[in-house]
Amino acid sequence: MEFNICVLPGDGIGPEIISQAEKVIKRVSEKFSHNILLEHALIGGCAIDKHGVPLPNETITKCKQSDAVLLGAVGGPKWDKVDHDIRPEKGLLGIRKELGLFANLRPAMVYDELRESSCLRQDIVEKGIDLIVIRELTGGIYFGTPKGIETKDGERVGYNTMMYREFEIRRIVKLAFEVARGRKKRLCSVDKANVLDVSRLWREVVEDEAKNYPDVELTHMYVDNAAMQLVLNPSQFDVVVTSNLFGDILSDEASIITGSIGMLPSASIGEGGPGLYEPIHGSAPDIAGQDRANPLATILSVAMMFRYSLGLEIEAKRIEDGVNEVLRQGYRTPDIYTPGKDMVSCSQMGDLVVSLI
Ligand code: NAD
Repeated sequence: MEFNICVLPGDGIGPEIISQAEKVIKRVSEKFSHNILLEHALIGGCAIDKHGVPLPNETITKCKQSDAVLLGAVGGPKWDKVDHDIRPEKGLLGIRKELGLFANLRPAMVYDELRESSCLRQDIVEKGIDLIVIRELTGGIYFGTPKGIETKDGERVGYNTMMYREFEIRRIVKLAFEVARGRKKRLCSVDKANVLDVSRLWREVVEDEAKNYPDVELTHMYVDNAAMQLVLNPSQFDVVVTSNLFGDILSDEASIITGSIGMLPSASIGEGGPGLYEPIHGSAPDIAGQDRANPLATILSVAMMFRYSLGLEIEAKRIEDGVNEVLRQGYRTPDIYTPGKDMVSCSQMGDLVVSLI
């Protein structure tokens, strides 16, 4: 099959980790006889240096014309003092908006070989952690109006509005059911329906949509309980779907329990257009250019890209199996190294995964 991927390496360790991801894409294309064209474009600090803006129009056009976008990371101390309106992060927010990405998928899993890195007790980790948080990305309290700070009765009052339209809830819930269908078929919808009206609507729409997915087991959980359950018994979760605010907090909590930032991929999905795939970590300026970065989060983002944007599950699984096998064989980049294992560089890690696909 033929695909166009727009590759945005970005800044810091971005180009190093993206090179490894590209090797993996090329290997998978050869192995499965796909024709995958990789087109590069600038985003973030490097785009500011060349064009004076973090998201040039050319980048937007290339992204929109592609089947999927693969991003490294943006930002770094070099651009910390540039005008607020053109900061590198604005490039990220801009491309998410341009592509209409309404859902953020953040898997959190602990590999058997990396169990010691988790901050949770080993008896909890041993039960296995393999979950995915699906966060609504374009609605809810971060965007609702009215909002503001004003003076009432002689004192300042700050307020925001948590609002969801039915279609916004339905489209993300549908996506969550589909994702659950491709996994262990368990979906937990997280809300605060005991207090918030907006959550009552959320829950009604989830219940209604569940009728189309009788094969998926649906549960509801209040967000305060979900925050507790994520650290007490994370193995109970398969797919979690929730609103923007709750998802912001829960997805960070879920990733931190795995203990290794260099291992966590993410996907952002829109309606019909290309999805955006990126590691959850930043540009790590402290180790940039040293061939020390862990490329596995980016490589696992490529696996998600094959699964969710290209519809190629076998290829996705092959990449994930390659990562698993590399870890099983004892290879580690410095961030996940423990004594007795083999320390490898970023590019060696990329080559190892490629050799196992
Ligand atoms: P960071 O994620 O870049 O780094 C945090 C720590 O984790 C650092 O010690 C770093 O060396 C380490 N680390 C991160 N990724 C790693 C990897 N793949 N392998 C090994 N170690 C890794 O976060 P930060 O230091 O807060 O931010 C640095 C820059 O990145 C800032 O300019 C920030 O704005 C930007 N940032 C970008 C994104 C993004 O592009 N999505 C996300 C977060 C931060």
